[in-house]
Amino acid sequence: MEPSKKPRDKKKFWKPLLFAGIPAAAAAIVLAIVLPIVLNRPEPEEVTYQEFSSLVEQGQVERVEYTAGDPKLPFYRVDDETEYVTDNPKVEGFKERMLLAGVEFEEKPTSTFWNSLLSIFLTYLPFLFFAVLLLRFLPGRGFSVEAATRPDTTFDDVAGLDEIKEDMKVIAETIKNPKLCQELGAHITKGVLLEGEPGNGKTLFARALAGETGVSFYSVNASEFIEMYAGLGASRVRKLFKEAKEHAPSVVFIDELDAIGAKRDGSTDGAGREYTQSLNALLSAIDGFEDSDGVLVIGATNRAEDLDPALVRPGRFDKQFVLTLPDCQAREQILRLHARGKKISPQVDFAELAKDTVGFSGAALEVLLNEAAMQALIQKAPEITLEHIEQASMQMLLKGHIKKGIGNRNQTEHTVVCYHEAGHTVATAYLTDHALRRVTVLPTTSGAGGVTMSAPPSDKMLPKLEDLRSRVMVLYAGRAAEYWLCGGKEAQVTTGAAEDVRAATEVIQQIAMFSEEAGLLDYREFGLAGQKKMMERCQALSQELWKETVEFIQAHAQQVEAVAKALLEKDTLTGEEAEALLHPPKLEGEA
Ligand code: ADP
Ligand code: ZN
Repeated sequence: MEPSKKPRDKKKFWKPLLFAGIPAAAAAIVLAIVLPIVLNRPEPEEVTYQEFSSLVEQGQVERVEYTAGDPKLPFYRVDDETEYVTDNPKVEGFKERMLLAGVEFEEKPTSTFWNSLLSIFLTYLPFLFFAVLLLRFLPGRGFSVEAATRPDTTFDDVAGLDEIKEDMKVIAETIKNPKLCQELGAHITKGVLLEGEPGNGKTLFARALAGETGVSFYSVNASEFIEMYAGLGASRVRKLFKEAKEHAPSVVFIDELDAIGAKRDGSTDGAGREYTQSLNALLSAIDGFEDSDGVLVIGATNRAEDLDPALVRPGRFDKQFVLTLPDCQAREQILRLHARGKKISPQVDFAELAKDTVGFSGAALEVLLNEAAMQALIQKAPEITLEHIEQASMQMLLKGHIKKGIGNRNQTEHTVVCYHEAGHTVATAYLTDHALRRVTVLPTTSGAGGVTMSAPPSDKMLPKLEDLRSRVMVLYAGRAAEYWLCGGKEAQVTTGAAEDVRAATEVIQQIAMFSEEAGLLDYREFGLAGQKKMMERCQALSQELWKETVEFIQAHAQQVEAVAKALLEKDTLTGEEAEALLHPPKLEGEA
């Protein structure tokens, strides 16, 4: 449920009006003066170019106002205030001719630019001021700070992460009872850093901490502290912390802390200065807290290593927690949690589903169940079944909706996709310990070819070198199967494997670091020369693994053929169907 917001102060409502009002009034005055002048300006008198030329010869032209590109040429006669205009001759040497004839030659910047600027300015001015006015009223913008909320999220809404929860509960106690802690001589944490990929529950955790302890919760994104106007970001930081202190005990959550807190090369351009100012304001705000103030700052970031060291010094964000992707058990808990309030068929086995969703973040799991609910709704089913969940996960993996039939592909292309996917499938089955879950060649709106889903036997945190090598081979196997299909003619292989190659490049870089012969070194650390060496090493690895994959596919051509034929027939194979094709039940008497 969304936490309810406290009504904003009346006083704050008027401030933005004032800020928008002053410039608006000023603009109105300027308009009142400028508009009549612009409107009352008499039309210039048109003169043919021949007439103009003879006037020049008679020495009657005092001044021309020349604008390159303008079809018209305004000019003024001697002792005459009237503005005349003739056609712009647009010939070379015109300026010289005028100057020789004693005519003052005034060159103007391209008038179309100024004219259009003026007309844009005049047309949009009123809208601009309405927009400014509106912006000032939006929450979190302008000079006001987002009001505190009291989230009703608790630690029960956070699945897994039990160790971190324990520690957080202790920290929560210290905000509520700072005096008690001081008496015990306990050090009070002022800042906590939550590190982890998006969707791993950083925001959820911060919110739960505030909800659990019933304190005020302020949530901002650090990018809001980067403002177009110098110093505004910093003043916003100060304002936020002043509010938090007034409403203490409170939790201030700063998402994407890197926006102001990333290490920088000391650039002093406008943006750089603004960062520094906001960062310094944040640092001094944290330093300015007394232990008894009861304010806890929680920062969220993808990578703590990238943060300015000043931020993670003792007394600032000195407690750090890493929120990793959920393991199998946590995934099951998260799934159960988000299944609450959804009509899910009792046949859905959450433990099995957790095994199938390796690599899903908490947010992705939530999306999965919501998408499945959508599928059920579209199909007017009475409850969410495993089939709906599988369709949803396919859609998420393929990043698009599944099209009917073979989509925009022609039959040849479709056949190639089937062999490509068959290559991935066979390699997965023979080169890894992953279980095949599902293979599909259904076209999607995102243009992805197909997908082979598999699941590892457990959440292996640290893959072995050989695991990485087979991962690359599985990625290459799609292309290798295409290569085999067209008889090894490289030019005929499709470029459908671009994603595979990209993923393989990442894995190969990991492998390259662990080569005893080349030195156990991360060459990327050694500047250009190192990068070159790293690239050479990766190149050699790629060639070696590609060759191995091609040989592997050749040796397993029969199996590739079998899977491809099955895919041509039915678009999608379940894990069991694929396994049955690859490992047919042994006949009696066979070893
Ligand atoms: P982050 O801030 O790390 O990007 P969020 O906290 O915004 O991630 O997570 C997005 C959503 O994902 C949450 O609102 C929640 O529904 C779900 N989620 C993530 N992690 C968990 C978890 N451990 N338990 C339950 N739900 C989770
Ligand atoms: Zn592929």
